[in-house]
Amino acid sequence: MTSVVDVRNVSFAYGDSLALEEVTLTVENGDFLGLIGPNGSGKTTLLHVMLGLLSPDSGSVRLFDQPIEEFEAGERIGYVSQKATDRGGTMPVTVRECVLMGRFAHVGHGRLNDEDHETVADALETVGIADLADQQMNQLSGGQRQRAYIARALASEADLLALDEPTVGVDAESRDEFYRLLDSLNRSGITIILIEHDIGVVTDRANRIACINTELYHHGDTESFVESEALSEAYGKTGEIVHHHH
Ligand code: ADP
Repeated sequence: MTSVVDVRNVSFAYGDSLALEEVTLTVENGDFLGLIGPNGSGKTTLLHVMLGLLSPDSGSVRLFDQPIEEFEAGERIGYVSQKATDRGGTMPVTVRECVLMGRFAHVGHGRLNDEDHETVADALETVGIADLADQQMNQLSGGQRQRAYIARALASEADLLALDEPTVGVDAESRDEFYRLLDSLNRSGITIILIEHDIGVVTDRANRIACINTELYHHGDTESFVESEALSEAYGKTGEIVHHHH
């Protein structure tokens, strides 16, 4: 198996405040990794380190078997940030135009051709928003906008999708549908890293769990996580654990 992300002994501090301490973990090709931990435990920081948006103070990161400093194939990564549901700052473009941007990395100096437009149409179809193609991005609901960002990642042929609490502010029904979409993308071969505060969703969907609170408390398959003490250790006595039962 090829590793998609490989994090070795990574520490990171914001000034004097340590956010990650000696974290080591590997995401393999085809994994669906759930990244969990209490509020402020370093989940977003770790994701940013994994994607090269932050440089660790010590330790090393490899993306697709390349040192992250040398990694240039950004189109292989789709990142849906916490702000994706947010309307503010959304570009004044249509959904189709937004998703078409995913093709730019592939056309080089050439022009977008029929095939690119077909790829975009397919991506919109896959995420279930083909009917919204001509709407402005800033007119969509939070959940629809996230789907558009995922469609853009599919159009760019990303093989890693990283999502930071993608269903905050999304209603329960759309949320279930959204997670079914992630499942089917994962089954089609896309590696997924998901930050999600609802432990039940993560243990239902993910095949691997990383549970952190500055340090890593668990990294491994979901079954061994459920049987371990990692959750209560990482969340401590005061931690608030969200369970969602189906
Ligand atoms: P999580 O995603 O688990 O909620 P974060 O990675 O966002 O946690 O934050 C980890 C810790 O780092 C928290 O204590 C947070 O307050 C702090 N932190 C996050 N971003 C910054 C920043 N830009 N500047 C200073 N401290 C930060």
